[in-house]
Amino acid sequence: MNNEFNTLQKFDAGKGREGFFHSLPELEKQGVGKISRLPISIRIVLESVLRNCDGKKVCRKDVEALANWNANKPANEEIPFVVARIVLQDFTGVPLVVDLAAMRSAVKRVGGDPKIIEPLVPVDLVVDHSVQVDFFGSAEALRLNLEMEFKRNRERYQFLKWGQQAFKTFQLIPPGIGIVHQVNLEYLAKGVLASQFEISNLKSQIFFPDTLVGTDSHTTMINGLGVVGWGVGGIEAEAGMLGQPVYFLTPEVVGVHLTGKLREGVTATDLVLHITQMLRAQKVVGKFVEFYGEGAASLPVPDRATIGNMSPEYGATIGYFPVDQESVDYLGATGRSEEQCAAFENYFRAQKMFGMPRRGEIDYSVELQLDLGQVQPGVAGPKRPQDRINLPDLGQTFRSLLQQPVKDGGYGKENVDLSTRHLVQLNGSAPTDGNMPSTDEGLEIAPAEERNKLEMISNRPTPDPAKELEAADPFHHGESRIGHGSVLIAAITSCTNTSNPSVMLAAGLLAKKAVERGLRVDPAVKTSLAPGSRVVSDYLTKTGLQTYLDQLGFNLVGYGCTTCIGNSGPLHPKIEKAIHDHDLVAASVLSGNRNFEARVHQNIKANFLMSPPLVVAFALAGRVDLDMTKEPIGTDKDGNEIFLRDLWPSLTEVRDAMQSALTPEVFRKLYRDFADQNPKWDEIPSSTGDIYQWDEKSDYIHEPPFFEDFSMKPGKIENIVGARALGIFGDSVTTDHISPAGAIKASSPAGRYLISRGIEPVDFNSYGSRRGNDLVMTRGTFANVRIKNLMVPGTEGGVTKYFGKPRQRADAGSEQMSIFDAAMKYQKDNVPLVILAGTEYGTGSSRDWAAKGTRLLGVKAVVASSFERIHRSNLVGMGVLPLQFAEGTNAQTLKLDGSETFSITGLSDAIEPGMTVTLKIERANEKSDSVPVSLRIDTPIEIDYYRHGGILQFVLRQLLGT
Ligand code: SF4
Repeated sequence: MNNEFNTLQKFDAGKGREGFFHSLPELEKQGVGKISRLPISIRIVLESVLRNCDGKKVCRKDVEALANWNANKPANEEIPFVVARIVLQDFTGVPLVVDLAAMRSAVKRVGGDPKIIEPLVPVDLVVDHSVQVDFFGSAEALRLNLEMEFKRNRERYQFLKWGQQAFKTFQLIPPGIGIVHQVNLEYLAKGVLASQFEISNLKSQIFFPDTLVGTDSHTTMINGLGVVGWGVGGIEAEAGMLGQPVYFLTPEVVGVHLTGKLREGVTATDLVLHITQMLRAQKVVGKFVEFYGEGAASLPVPDRATIGNMSPEYGATIGYFPVDQESVDYLGATGRSEEQCAAFENYFRAQKMFGMPRRGEIDYSVELQLDLGQVQPGVAGPKRPQDRINLPDLGQTFRSLLQQPVKDGGYGKENVDLSTRHLVQLNGSAPTDGNMPSTDEGLEIAPAEERNKLEMISNRPTPDPAKELEAADPFHHGESRIGHGSVLIAAITSCTNTSNPSVMLAAGLLAKKAVERGLRVDPAVKTSLAPGSRVVSDYLTKTGLQTYLDQLGFNLVGYGCTTCIGNSGPLHPKIEKAIHDHDLVAASVLSGNRNFEARVHQNIKANFLMSPPLVVAFALAGRVDLDMTKEPIGTDKDGNEIFLRDLWPSLTEVRDAMQSALTPEVFRKLYRDFADQNPKWDEIPSSTGDIYQWDEKSDYIHEPPFFEDFSMKPGKIENIVGARALGIFGDSVTTDHISPAGAIKASSPAGRYLISRGIEPVDFNSYGSRRGNDLVMTRGTFANVRIKNLMVPGTEGGVTKYFGKPRQRADAGSEQMSIFDAAMKYQKDNVPLVILAGTEYGTGSSRDWAAKGTRLLGVKAVVASSFERIHRSNLVGMGVLPLQFAEGTNAQTLKLDGSETFSITGLSDAIEPGMTVTLKIERANEKSDSVPVSLRIDTPIEIDYYRHGGILQFVLRQLLGT
């Protein structure tokens, strides 16, 4: 046990237990820093840095720097944050489990015990991103959608099932249980964790705060419970999984002082949309946001979680609420044990971090103020979550956007008659392609025109789901009239809101009143209810409200992300045709968090985020071009106009429903024996054993070659000599340029490869869904159709010039070919490769394959003017050397065209972070230049990673050596 600062102390962990902890008040007593003035979120990170201070991964100076966090000018230092656990969703989690499986295979090959490969911190993977709303509006929708999901994803699920039985510290929550962040909030999070350790020959427990990273941007939902955590890319998560720190730059912390209380009729969704708009305007990107004050104390944990969830939408790294009595009570109310609750409370009390801070108690970088009483009901859209519209203004805003030119963010429909409606007869269906395949959080998606060609994950040789869907005819029948502003999708979706009983019950109560008044939903509206856990169904059933939602078509369609991630499924083909024929700006209304064009559905242009009760109300109204506070949303059977105010439930009604329905026993019952509760999961055949039997027939799961020729001894750090340039790029090359997530072109190397495997382009699926297969992903590296390689001026896409072996003169001829093909030719001749780039190389969402693919192409170094932070560390993590040009120097000033041969000298086992080495350029005309470049290996541990050829190899050798 590290105890560098003598801060290890005993405390009463409650229920007769005694435990140890690293005391932050003690650290302050020793004069290390004014810790009691630090934001709570910073203190929680500091505790991790202190506890893990071993002089190697984490050094004394890291503790001292963070303990002296300067609110006004945070140090320009990276913080090594060792997290307590990891959460994954299925889309981003598969490649991580593939890497673990590959490590086991490597251990077996060198004669070791494969079981030494275990995640060193607990990992939970929730399968939630793959369910699509194919069936809706019927009692059978849940079962049928689940069946379709299993058919489409069988191959991936088989693999995950192997992982589930192979790793002890890896828990898998199968499909049909819930959404990752809601499951985290209701079940996985513990508030405080403990591990065994020995002190003076006595076994004891050390307690520490629950902290995590997840491979999904809305991981921040857990901040509502006082848990520090956020979304990261695959390699950071992999590092965290293997006990390595996740590095991040010391953040500014924005304190948001909340006062007052929400008014009657204002929901948590209204509040989060207000906060999103407010914080976007305040530019909180990359910062921590911490809410405090009596207003924060008045919010229940589900409301806090809703606000934490949308941090990515307001741009903050986290949206944190400190731990108080409300947090402990929530833990108890959701079925966590008394011991757990006591330890949670006592730990935070011992750290003097219990209770909602009041104004003036903490130093924040920026202080903002929000009176909750000022928040008004609203929606956000039609394209961005931060574009909030007060509810009365929606109709007018929509009408003016409809007419505004496209360049001003409108739809360019001048002189349209909004009252024009087109008749559609919804009888019988025809086949459709379905909607867009899921992409993971934070990934850019394929252009709309390409998306039409894509399907959801459809593994061969399963039955063709599109045909099955056609035969089943899952749509509503009847007659409808649709036009601009018609609501065609109404989805109660997204963990953002489904984790919040107050808004879900409000939706049920509103549905009840609507049914009782005889209101109905138009058959053109695709209605769906997809909660993030089965607890929601339990309380909606107990309160008798589900039956009213059913009558309006909001039948349960699944427990997963559905419309929130774009898996809204197909619309009736006749509706799609009417949209197309009349170029309609149709609308979706959803309780989700993102609404950029084509996210929800490729043919729905206006997408409005709103609370679940408003989703029901707009489904009833069937259109968005109205002022719902003044205009009727329908008529009862006697022809009387019904207004929103006639249906809206009071706070008392919502509270009464909540009290009658939510008990800890329900949470305990529903969060156990997951497999037993999903027989379909049990039916999936899967291999067993410690080693995964890689199946060469699979095009989704393949053993990556990271451990080919693995030996126990790391190589030496040596100069890179005689390298060729694979690409020369300009500024702001994104991770999506490097490793696209969207469509695979038939003519691309990946497309050609898939065709050679007998896969037709219609079954290509996206790069994103094939991330468990390095053979596809390596071919996809630098294959974005928009990437511009300056070695081949005037072209776009992944092409380069192949110059042959070094010493072969440029005038001996160069050949234009795909980057992948050139890389393979160079690899055959053992020619190392370099990439040269401008500023902000690797910007955009974090993507593990951007670094993995670079490595597998044979690139040894990337020399750029500057790097995006995470991509730089990912390159090191994959054993690729990041080097930075000196200010004012770049490929253009050096007049490089790719015909040169490059050497990097000054590299040896004695390198130090940030030191200067030399880039030697031998030109085709036999002249040469040498320029200084700085090593962007930034920390001592990164030198180890690099020496070992990457973080995976480093950890593997550590494990094999013990
Ligand atoms: S419901 Fe939406 S926000 Fe929640 S995990 Fe799924 S895609 Fe992300």
